[in-house]
Amino acid sequence: MQPVLVEEGVRAGLERLRLRRMDEVLGRVCEEASRKEASYLDFLQQLLEEEQTARYERNVEWKTRLAGLPYHKTMADFDYSFQKSVDKRQIAELLTLRFVENGENVLLLGPPGVGKTHIAVALAKEAIAKGYSAYFVTMQRLVDYLSEGSEPVSTRMRIFLRPKLLVIDEVGYLPLERLAANWFFELVSRRYEKGSIVLTSNKSYGEWASLFPEVAIASAILDRLLHHSTTINIRGESYRLKDKRKAGLFNRLETVEVGQDGEK
Ligand code: ADP
Ligand code: MG
Repeated sequence: MQPVLVEEGVRAGLERLRLRRMDEVLGRVCEEASRKEASYLDFLQQLLEEEQTARYERNVEWKTRLAGLPYHKTMADFDYSFQKSVDKRQIAELLTLRFVENGENVLLLGPPGVGKTHIAVALAKEAIAKGYSAYFVTMQRLVDYLSEGSEPVSTRMRIFLRPKLLVIDEVGYLPLERLAANWFFELVSRRYEKGSIVLTSNKSYGEWASLFPEVAIASAILDRLLHHSTTINIRGESYRLKDKRKAGLFNRLETVEVGQDGEK
């Protein structure tokens, strides 16, 4: 058969089998293979690798979009020297994602701006890169979402039950009403030992009781959350304020210099 017809047939086959990347790179890979006098197996391996890489990247992109992350930062962007209370080795252990494999939780506690959401986002991104599904939601959004719509709450809750890793950000900014507290309890119980939760809070565990209508529900929730978990207590300064302070200092220095010039 003529080479052109063979190529057409191959391309039609690749399209039918949805091997899009192989179709895209076929010309280049064929050319390279003949130039390097590669074996048939090497050629095939090269094509398959291209397809697998492209599928992996598409999968990561898709899962990242579904996860609803507020921003895209990793631990490579994290300045450990600024936040001394974050232990690099502990983060490295979390980044192995054994906690996700084992359905364990991570609780990030501390005042505003110290990197709680940053670490939660980084863990979610790593989970996605390793093939897990992840979903990010703030406590406020979670409660709003469960209270909207006409379907029963158990149906609406599925979106928070399905992902292997669920990030619940900003627990503690608002106290929960009885119904919301019950939903939160149900969610934590249903994910218990099955799907990991990474939770961030500006409140210490001692203050959690004040977030819930009853101490009993607060301790029932904490009991399940903490049973298999890692807590990272972040102390120290807000990274956001650090930049602001620097800017403030910079402005003051400028004013001094301008003042001195003016006096001349
Ligand atoms: P919060 O603890 O309130 O959730 P974030 O994690 O959102 O704070 O941090 C606030 C901002 O500061 C984000 O843009 C985050 O990326 C950045 N940030 C916080 N801590 C660090 C750090 N140690 N190194 C680099 N960036 C940081
Ligand atoms: Mg935050």
